[in-house]
Amino acid sequence: MVQRRIRRKSTGRKGVLLPICMICEQTPPRGIAGGIVVSGCFLCTGCEKEIVETRVGDSRYCDIKEKIKRIWHHGVP
Ligand SMILES: [Zn+2]
Repeated sequence: MVQRRIRRKSTGRKGVLLPICMICEQTPPRGIAGGIVVSGCFLCTGCEKEIVETRVGDSRYCDIKEKIKRIWHHGVP
């Protein structure tokens, strides 16, 4: 039985920005390429999609809206 050592792959290049999503607080595997920056806040593609697909009146909508509001109030003076 051959055991292979699993090498930890870094994000590719050194100095790649690793932003944290303002909604789910996760860093996408692709780093900054895996999302968008809105008013200085990072949003991963997953959450971006969720916001786009969530309708007003949806329970998730209120949740997301509140989170964005809170972050924007803290992040932007
Ligand atoms: Zn996210």
